[in-house]
Amino acid sequence: MTEKQLPPHKEPGRESPWELAVGPSPEHWNDWVELDPQAWPERKERHYRCVPTICFNCESACGLLAFVDKETGDVEKFEGNPVHPGSRGRTCAKGPATINQVRDTERILKPLKRKGARGGGEWEEVSWTEALDDIAGRIRAAIEEDRHEDVMYHVGRPGEDHFVMRMLQAWGIDGHNSHTNVCSASARFGFSTWFGADRPSPDYSEAKFALLLSAHLETGHYFNPHAQRIIEAKERGTKIAVVDTRLSNTTTHADRWISSWPGSEAALLLGVARELLSRDAIDHAFVERWTNWRAFLEARDADGPGTYARFIELLRAEYDRFTPEFVVDECKVEPGTVEYLADEIAAAGSRFTSHLWRNAASGNHGGWQVARALLFLHVLSGSVGTPGGLNPNSWDKFAPKPPLTPPPHSRWNEKLFPKEFPLAHYEMSFLLPHLLEHQESKLDVYFTRVYNPVWTNPDGCTWIEMLEDPDRIGLHVALSPTWSETAQWADYVLPMGLGPERHDIMSQETHAGTWIGFRQPVGREFHRQETGEALTTLETNPGEVWEEAEFWIALTWRIDPDGSLGISKYFESKERPGEPQTMDEYFGDIFENSVPGLPEAAEKEGVTPLEYMRRYGAFAVPYGGQERYEGEGEVELASGERKAGFGTPSGLLEFYSPTISEWGFDEHAIPNYLESQVNWRGLDLEKGERALLPTFRLPTLIHTRSANSKWLQEISHTNPLWVHPEDAEALGLVNGGLARVTTEIGYFVVRVWVTEGIHPGVVACSHHVGRWRLHREVGGAQLATSLVDIHREDGTFLFRQKEPVSPFSTDDPDTSRIHWKETGVNQNLTFPVQPDPASGMHCWHQKVTVSPAAEGDQYGDVFVDTKRSREVFQEWMKKTQPAPVGGLRRPLWMNRPLKPTEDAYRL
Ligand code: SF4
Repeated sequence: MTEKQLPPHKEPGRESPWELAVGPSPEHWNDWVELDPQAWPERKERHYRCVPTICFNCESACGLLAFVDKETGDVEKFEGNPVHPGSRGRTCAKGPATINQVRDTERILKPLKRKGARGGGEWEEVSWTEALDDIAGRIRAAIEEDRHEDVMYHVGRPGEDHFVMRMLQAWGIDGHNSHTNVCSASARFGFSTWFGADRPSPDYSEAKFALLLSAHLETGHYFNPHAQRIIEAKERGTKIAVVDTRLSNTTTHADRWISSWPGSEAALLLGVARELLSRDAIDHAFVERWTNWRAFLEARDADGPGTYARFIELLRAEYDRFTPEFVVDECKVEPGTVEYLADEIAAAGSRFTSHLWRNAASGNHGGWQVARALLFLHVLSGSVGTPGGLNPNSWDKFAPKPPLTPPPHSRWNEKLFPKEFPLAHYEMSFLLPHLLEHQESKLDVYFTRVYNPVWTNPDGCTWIEMLEDPDRIGLHVALSPTWSETAQWADYVLPMGLGPERHDIMSQETHAGTWIGFRQPVGREFHRQETGEALTTLETNPGEVWEEAEFWIALTWRIDPDGSLGISKYFESKERPGEPQTMDEYFGDIFENSVPGLPEAAEKEGVTPLEYMRRYGAFAVPYGGQERYEGEGEVELASGERKAGFGTPSGLLEFYSPTISEWGFDEHAIPNYLESQVNWRGLDLEKGERALLPTFRLPTLIHTRSANSKWLQEISHTNPLWVHPEDAEALGLVNGGLARVTTEIGYFVVRVWVTEGIHPGVVACSHHVGRWRLHREVGGAQLATSLVDIHREDGTFLFRQKEPVSPFSTDDPDTSRIHWKETGVNQNLTFPVQPDPASGMHCWHQKVTVSPAAEGDQYGDVFVDTKRSREVFQEWMKKTQPAPVGGLRRPLWMNRPLKPTEDAYRL
C-alpha cells in the first residue's frame, strides 16, 4: 500500500490528511494536545499554547508557531504557522531549529564589558544601566558637538522593516550601514535602473516558464516561500531552467541546467534577446507603450526618423553580435542553449517569470548587467506586471510605518556614501576600514548588529586591524545573542533577543500578494495570555536578554531624557506623556492606523488590531493586483492618455538609462555585457589559474546565525572545494586531499571534492562555514568553531587551527555527542575588496591559483597580507567615476536608506 492509499488520518486541527502536515489551525492554539514521546509507552498528554511569531534565520520571514508547554511555560518546539500568507505553514530546516538557538548552552545571557585589550578574551558582566549610560552619554555628546557622523549602526540581517531607520532619523544621524553591498547591491542596481524598484517579484502561480538565475529551492532569496511555489508550479506543468555554474539542488529539479562560465550570464541573456528580436517574438504593444525608446533614439539616433520601427531596427543592430555561436564560445554553454531559451520565452509570452538576486549578479564586475539583460527579456516578452510574469517588488510588499515620522535629516556621511561611488546601491559597507583610513576618520560609537564582518566580509583582517585601533573605533558595541568572530573585538557585547524573543514587523515579496508578519516574543505573549499581564522582554526572556526595540527606546530616552534634543518625543507614550512607549503602544498604533483592512478584520473578530496580530502573527493586506503600473509619477503616453507609471525618472521602463549614461557609464546605459574579473580569457589554466565561485550557501545554514544550532551544524559543517575531474587531474588533486587556493592577497588550505557538478575551469567553495574563535571558553560556539592561533607579522596574518571541534560537557547531553571535527575554512578572509564602480557591489568571484597543499600546510590554514589588500583596494578605486555630476553627489531620484533632504545631495 503506497502512502497515497493509506486511509485518511486527520489530526484534529491539522490542515490536510495527505500533504505534509502543517501546523494546527488557530481554533486549537489555546490548548493543543500531544502525547509526550518521552513518556512512551504511557499515553501522557501534554498541553501546549501555540504562540505565532516569525522566523529570524533568513530574510524570508516565514511564520512560526511556538509550542509552549502550559505546565512549565517552556517552548518545546517550533513549527510553521499555517495562516501566514507567505510561508503557508511550511518552513525549511532552519525554522524548527530555532529551538536549538533558544536552548543553546553557550548563548550570551548577560551584558558583557571588555576587560584588558580588545580581542584579549577577558570579559566582565555589567548592568544594562551602566552600559546604557556609557553609550547614551557618548551619542548625546556626538549630537551636541555636531559630530553626528561619528555614530554608526551597522546591520547584517535587519529582520524588521522600519524601526531602526526611524530611530536613526529621529536622532538626526546619517549612520545607517548595512550588508547590502556584500549581498545584493548589484542586482538591485540593475533592476532599479529599469523599473525603479530594486527587486523582482516573480509570480510563479501562473507562469508557463521560469528561468532561475539563483539556487532557489535550497538557498535563494525568499527560499521557502519561493521554493514551495516553484514546486507547485512545476506540478502544474511550468517548465524550469536554471542558469548556474554549479549543480545546485535547484538544478536537480529543473528541466534544464545551463552551466555557464561565471560572469558570462549577461552575454547569454542578450543572446536570447537577439534571438527573440530576430524571430520578431516581441510584444510590440507593450514595448512601444512602456519603454523609454524615445529617450534612446534622442541619445543615440538624434538625426533619425524617431519612430518605433527605427528603434526596433537599432535594437536588432545593437545586439546582433550576440549570436548563438558567440554565446556558446563566451559562456561555454551547450550549443542550442540560446534557441531553447528563446523557444520557451516566446511560448510563455506574458507568463514568463524569472528570479535573480545574488548569484551571478553578485560575483562579477558589471554583474548588474545580468539584471538589466534579464529584465530586457521580460520587456520584450511583455511579462512585466502580468499574471505569471514578473512584478516590481514594491507591488508585492507592504511595509507599514508609524503614524508619526521624524523629518529627514540633511547630512551626508562620506563613510557610508563616498564620492567615488555615487550610484552605489547602497552604503559601501565592506570598505569601511579602507574608507576610515583613506579619509583619516573615526567612529566614536560603532554598533554591529547581527553582523559579523570579520568573518563574512572580504578582507576580514583589515576589519580586525580597524576594530583594534582606538583611533578608528572609539567604542564598539556588538548587539548579539551569540558570540561571533567580530564580537571578540567588541567593548560591549549586549545580548539581544533571538527571533522568538523580540518584536518586529516584516513583509516580503514572496508572491503576487501582500502581507505583514508580526514577530513577537513568545515568553512575553505566553505570560500575557496566561495572566493578562503585559511585561517587558527583559522580564520574560531568558537571563538578561532584552529585545532590541525596547533597548533602543530606553537608549533614546537616555540620550534625550528631557526632550530637549527633540528626539524622545518619537517614542513617547500618548497615554502617559513624558514616558517612553511600551511595545503594545508602539505596535498597536501602527496596526490601528497604518495597515489597510486590519482594523476591519479585527473588528469582525471582536478584538483590537494589536490583539488580532498577537493572535494570528500575520495578516494578508488587500492586494493592489497586477497590471497597475503604479509608481512615483504619472506618465504621458504617446496617445495623450495619462497613467501612473514605474518608479523611474521617466515613469517608464528605462531600457536606456539616462542616469547610467550621465554618471559615467554611457556605454552601459542599455542592457550590455561587461567581461568579469574572472573571465576565462584572463586565466592561464596551464599555470593552475581558475575562477573561484565562493557565493553559494548551504541549504541548512544561514551565514553567521546558524552556528548555535546543533541540528544544523550536525548536517552541514564543512565547505570542500568543488573541483571538476578534468581539473583535478590537471592540477594533481585527489578527492579528500588538501588543496592550497591562492588569491591576490593570501591563500587558504581546503579539502578537495572532485565532482562533475561544477563547470571545468571553475572551482567552488561555500562561504557558510569556516567559523573560528580565539579563546577556548568565549568568542564562538564550540560546536561550530575551531580554536585558532593567529600569527601576525608586519601586516600579515596566518590563521592556524589549534583544536578542531570536539565533544564538550554541558547540560545538553548532545554536546558530548559531537562526532565531527572539521569546521571548514574561512575563505573570505583571503579575498581582497573588489568594489564594482557603478553598483558598489563587492565582486565576489576570485581569480585564484589552485595547487596541491604545500609542505607544512594544514587543513584550515589561512594566510593574508593586508599591505597587499590595501594595494588592491587602490587598484579598484581607479575604476570609479566619482561625483559630482551637475553639482550632485548622487542622482536625486535614486533611493538610499535614511534618504536625506535634497540639500544633502548637493556638493
Ligand atoms: S526560509 Fe528562512 S524564514 Fe523561512 S523557515 Fe527557513 S530560515 Fe526561516
